[in-house]
Amino acid sequence: MTTIKSRGTVTIDTDVCKGCELCITACPPRVLSMTGSDEINQLGYRYPQLHPGCTGCAACLMVCPDFVFEVFRFEQPVVTEVPE
Ligand code: SF4
Ligand code: SF4
Repeated sequence: MTTIKSRGTVTIDTDVCKGCELCITACPPRVLSMTGSDEINQLGYRYPQLHPGCTGCAACLMVCPDFVFEVFRFEQPVVTEVPE
């Protein structure tokens, strides 16, 4: 197991995402990835999902043209154990 610390988290309003993927490359720790091709929203687009390791930096919030993200910072880091 590997331990990953998250200093923040995001909510993702998946229904309004247009699948542009700008957030994927904008996220410094690269903790956002797009859903698989069989997981699409009501508009017909794939959307991002969050993995452990968010820093709460808000880069995703600033880059997203559709205001999909809300960002929250934890007072204490949250530790997640993930398989290697
Ligand atoms: S807040 Fe920062 S670290 Fe967290 S998902 Fe958004 S861009 Fe990535
Ligand atoms: S930047 Fe916004 S609209 Fe584009 S894929 Fe990410 S969440 Fe969806």
